[in-house]
Formats: sequence, structure tokens, C-alpha cells
Amino acid sequence: MPCKGICLRHRALKPKVAEGGRYLTGQKRCQVCSIFMRWPGLFCPCCGYRLRTRPRNYKFKSRLRDAKKQRDQKTLTVQKSQIKRKAL
Ligand SMILES: [Zn+2]
Ligand SMILES: [Zn+2]
Repeated sequence: MPCKGICLRHRALKPKVAEGGRYLTGQKRCQVCSIFMRWPGLFCPCCGYRLRTRPRNYKFKSRLRDAKKQRDQKTLTVQKSQIKRKAL
């Protein structure tokens, strides 16, 4: 379902940094409506899409993810070379 504008009624204001950011203050993000809102449910009251309750783009998080990705790629390369050896 597309955005119907209902989300605007639940729109959350940007909290002060001292309060710990949007997710920590209980705000949820709808990717379809691209809006932060205060809403007790797991799904957007507007479009019905599942709301995001945890941060994703925090710098330290992405750094962790990158490290994991690099490790996964290494494992993958090792596995590939093992497969090659078996094929020969
Ligand atoms: Zn909406
Ligand atoms: Zn929505």
C-alpha cells in the first residue's frame, strides 16, 4: 500500500542529541513513507509496511558490517579455491 498521509499525523519531531537519537527515544521509521513516527505498533498505520525500530546507518554499525563482509569474502575465496582444487 502506498503512503496515504496518515503517517503525518504521527510524525515525530527530531529529538535532541542529548536524548539519544530517534530510535532510542522510541521513534520508528517507515521506509515507504520515509518518515519517523511515534507509533506503538510494529507496522505503519499509514501504508501497513513494517516499521524499523533499530538504527542501521550508524557509523560504528557499518564499520562492523564492513569488517564482517571482508571476512565473509575471504572465506568465500578460500572455499572457491578448494573447489577448484577438487575439480582438478
Ligand atoms: Zn505514510
Ligand atoms: Zn508508512
